Amino acid sequence: MKKQIAILGSTGSIGTQALQVIEEHPDLYEAYVLTANNRVDMLIEQARKFRPEAVVIANEERYNQLKEALADLPIKVYAGSEALCEVVTDQHIDMVLTAMVGYAGLKPTMHAIKAHKPIALANKETLVVAGELINELAHVNRTPILPVDSEHSAVFQCLAGEADTPIEKVILTASGGPFRTYTHEQLAHVTRQQALKHPNWSMGAKITIDSASMMNKGFEVMEAKWLFGVKPEQIEVVVHPQSIVHSMVQFEDGAIKAQLGMPDMRLPIQYAFSYPQRIKASFPRINWMNCAELTFEQPDLERFRNLALAYEAIHRGGNMPCIVNAANEVVVEAFLNDRISFLGMSDVIEQTMSRASFLAKPSYEDYVATDAEVRRLAAELIH
Ligand code: NAD
Ligand code: MG
Repeated sequence: MKKQIAILGSTGSIGTQALQVIEEHPDLYEAYVLTANNRVDMLIEQARKFRPEAVVIANEERYNQLKEALADLPIKVYAGSEALCEVVTDQHIDMVLTAMVGYAGLKPTMHAIKAHKPIALANKETLVVAGELINELAHVNRTPILPVDSEHSAVFQCLAGEADTPIEKVILTASGGPFRTYTHEQLAHVTRQQALKHPNWSMGAKITIDSASMMNKGFEVMEAKWLFGVKPEQIEVVVHPQSIVHSMVQFEDGAIKAQLGMPDMRLPIQYAFSYPQRIKASFPRINWMNCAELTFEQPDLERFRNLALAYEAIHRGGNMPCIVNAANEVVVEAFLNDRISFLGMSDVIEQTMSRASFLAKPSYEDYVATDAEVRRLAAELIH
């Protein structure tokens, strides 16, 4: 029986790499559902090649084009964000890969968990915004959440065979991004083009900017807290510019396990698909002669204020991470449209954190309201 996989966000960086994994193992995996936001041409091409049961285009204006292009094939075609939530509940789906970007991933992920679908989680914003709620939901529905983010996959791989071993510390590595060595003065003038050039990873635009500002690492601390049940004090961030050590776990006897490999997201994606097994892969291997140096340094919370703001949000808890996430989505989009400076992003996030209504014990409806309130506030602050 082939594992039937629904890919939410199949046209993105993670989505297309997931399809490469499926293509490499046609005996094991099948794409059951493919979805996209706007890129209808690519979705059509993917559907013709992988022949899924259903496709969804979130942007309803593209529905007719999609429907017509696939009219000769027995593929169900849907549109709209509600369709994303419905399609993941299909009884034939064995796993849902959440490879959408941003807050939009939260609702379909909740629907998939309620339908008892194991989640391969790339969409970290889901755990940033509503980690506690997602954990409860996964617990009640006995649904596993398997990490796809490379650092969390690394930790997860280090924990194989250590089910009852207490964790002393999780050590998340960070590349430091393209501006690791920049002064504050230099950071004030960086452009979108510079920020979009990540030294080690090729990813979607939003996460690439988050990596340059180190907000991504703040989000990953939150993600680790919810995935591995550790306290924030037990999570250390270490800058490792070569991106070879993907992350580490330190146990109570002081032993540290690390997972190493080339920076290639297909490995963590495949591990989430194949877990608890490891299967063959043709991805490039490390050539140790080219890795003469593996270096480690402390992150600088003064130059990378977003990381400091993320830590503050973790300590305040409640809906504060949701506030930071929504403000960050707004400023990153503005930065990508040259409407705000690189450092201006942190200013707006900080101001939004002090203005938005704080809630200590938010419900799902509260998160929805917070997200909407913060998007308004942040947009006003940018204008
Ligand atoms: P991307 O921008 O390349 O792709 C995003 C995908 O989501 C596209 O298919 C797009 O059509 C879809 N999408 C976007 N907005 C949507 C909406 N509102 N409704 C429905 N679909 C929507 O992004 P990516 O780099 O592939 O990242 C996806 C997720 O994985 C993010 O949460 C990111 O943080 C996480 N992640 C990515 C990487 C990476 O290497 N790219 C690594 C770790 C984690
Ligand atoms: Mg990561």
